[in-house]
Amino acid sequence: MEKKTNEFKAEIAEMLDLVVNSLYSKKEIFLRELISNASDAIDRAKFLSLTDKALVADNPDWKIEIAVDKDAKTMMISDNGSGMDAADLEQNLGTIASSGTKKFREMLKEKKGADLPELIGQFGVGFYAAFMVADKVRVVSKKRGGTAAFQWESDMGGSYTIEDAERENFGTSIMLHFREDQSEYLDYWRVSDLVKKYSDFIAYPIYFRDLVLPKDEKEEDKKRREEREAKALNTQVALWKRAKKDVKQEEYDEFYKHLTHDWEAPFETIQFSGEGAVEFKALLFLPKKATMELFMPQQKRGLSLYVRNVFIGDDIEMLLPSWLRFVKGVVDSADLPLNVSREMLQDDAVIQKIKSAVTKKVLSTLESIKEKDAKRYDEFFATFGTVLKEGVHTDWENADRIKKLLKYPTARGESGKRVFLEDYVKDMGSDQKDIYYILSEREEDARRAPQLEAARKHGCDVLLWCDPVDEYLTESMREFEGKKFVDIAKGEVKFGSEAEQKAEKEASDKAAEELKGFIAAVKKELDAKVSDVRISTRLTDSPFCLVAQEHAMSASMVRMMRAMHQEVPDEKRILEINPTHPLVKKLASLEGKDLTDAVTLAYDTALVAEGSPIADGARFAALISQLMLK
Ligand code: ADP
Repeated sequence: MEKKTNEFKAEIAEMLDLVVNSLYSKKEIFLRELISNASDAIDRAKFLSLTDKALVADNPDWKIEIAVDKDAKTMMISDNGSGMDAADLEQNLGTIASSGTKKFREMLKEKKGADLPELIGQFGVGFYAAFMVADKVRVVSKKRGGTAAFQWESDMGGSYTIEDAERENFGTSIMLHFREDQSEYLDYWRVSDLVKKYSDFIAYPIYFRDLVLPKDEKEEDKKRREEREAKALNTQVALWKRAKKDVKQEEYDEFYKHLTHDWEAPFETIQFSGEGAVEFKALLFLPKKATMELFMPQQKRGLSLYVRNVFIGDDIEMLLPSWLRFVKGVVDSADLPLNVSREMLQDDAVIQKIKSAVTKKVLSTLESIKEKDAKRYDEFFATFGTVLKEGVHTDWENADRIKKLLKYPTARGESGKRVFLEDYVKDMGSDQKDIYYILSEREEDARRAPQLEAARKHGCDVLLWCDPVDEYLTESMREFEGKKFVDIAKGEVKFGSEAEQKAEKEASDKAAEELKGFIAAVKKELDAKVSDVRISTRLTDSPFCLVAQEHAMSASMVRMMRAMHQEVPDEKRILEINPTHPLVKKLASLEGKDLTDAVTLAYDTALVAEGSPIADGARFAALISQLMLK
């Protein structure tokens, strides 16, 4: 092919500029990124060769080599992995898939300098890290399955070239021309330390070679050099195969970063083996932060799978239930055939067993954090609690264990504090049979809800369900330790002992009798808006509130469905009246237009109190003004 000069896509030019100018510290991570790419390329070649033996006809010893030339100030990182042809070079190194750069820039703004280099790689900009230390980069590659080699080169001037090249073996070499002030990476010890620090677990040997030999090298120096060049810089043992006690947390952290492109160490590391019916080893991580995609339908999830040391694939979602989609890690099993495909994994009994064991292990880990370190558990729950809750609905087998891990704010507790269901139950008085909750979109609204008043009066606490997912879970929650969940804003709720309930019923019947005329008048006024008007047993301080019928959709659900442009039939609710409230007594004496206006206002204020919109805001405002004038 003829030599072709291409302009970088605008976003790459911008990215390069950011890489060179913003990422001033820790330039050393370029090596980690390039080794990581080389290792991925070998993983890919090995995997493809499972179905196409011709691709590995050269019978390769998989390896990565770092060769330095102290005179020319260059480093060449070579692998014998998948290789790339001209189209791959253009696609992979000339454009950025996805909206990586945009996200990257947003992160840059947010992080303002501190850990910038750690962000590299997270958005697929790993390769460009080379330009932090080099002012010219040349890639020569020959793709497995192809016959010709190609070269990609750029000195960052906004363009790159692609042309034919010579290369005997399959694979890729990346040649870096170091900047004047970056020659430290030509030193064996520096490189060896970096490999140990960042890439020790890489499964293929990484060798170092000095291309420029000292002129009069002594025999013993030569021997020493040859010895160290024959030895790989990395131990190559997959972390999950090493005994836990021999692995330092920093090693786990680096592996986690290699695996996930996260720039922070994980929140928790879990290493374990499955024994018995299915044998496997697993290394799992709970991240510190949730990714932006956590609630997006296209989010990649699952674990990486290895079968007898061969990488089969990442994001294997059959290994994790959806409610644990924030968990990252690796599973390695010898009990699966090497030629498994993703489709086959779907119904594979071995995979099912591993998934079940992984799920149970994560559950027991969370249970132990909950037990041992409440503060730490709260940190976890604040980040991933919402996802965890989904499991109650989708994983009936583990639902009871999941429920025990959930925490909620309560009416009695201060804001920001959450309690476990078992603690709520422990605090229930002897008269309280059910677990009370109230639904709302916002905790502040829930705390102010008039429907809480009677619960307070009777000393009962109420769970505040203010997470959008809580609404969907009401059906699945149903009961906890034999106690029913009851929505205190629905139907008739009875608080207190039987004697108290009886006394309350009598008082309410008496009040209903006394206010008979008033109730009938209100019913007539609000006929189009409410299904019934009745005396309330749940109010102490407020004059009115609106409650849903036992099996109706709650007000917050209706608001949410409407916000999503769904048709929701108008379900009329019940207006409850507090007979002991002075305002009610006063209203009961009104008639004519005064009564009509007052009832309209009463209804609208009940809506405002629970955070629902009112139908005629202008009329409401006018009535309030009139009232103020009086
Ligand atoms: P990422 O590795 O996050 O996808 P990079 O910018 O590091 O992003 O690399 C872009 C792509 O270039 C890789 O996805 C891969 O397809 C290709 N690539 C990079 N290095 C190599 C290599 N040594 N061998 C084969 N392909 C490579």
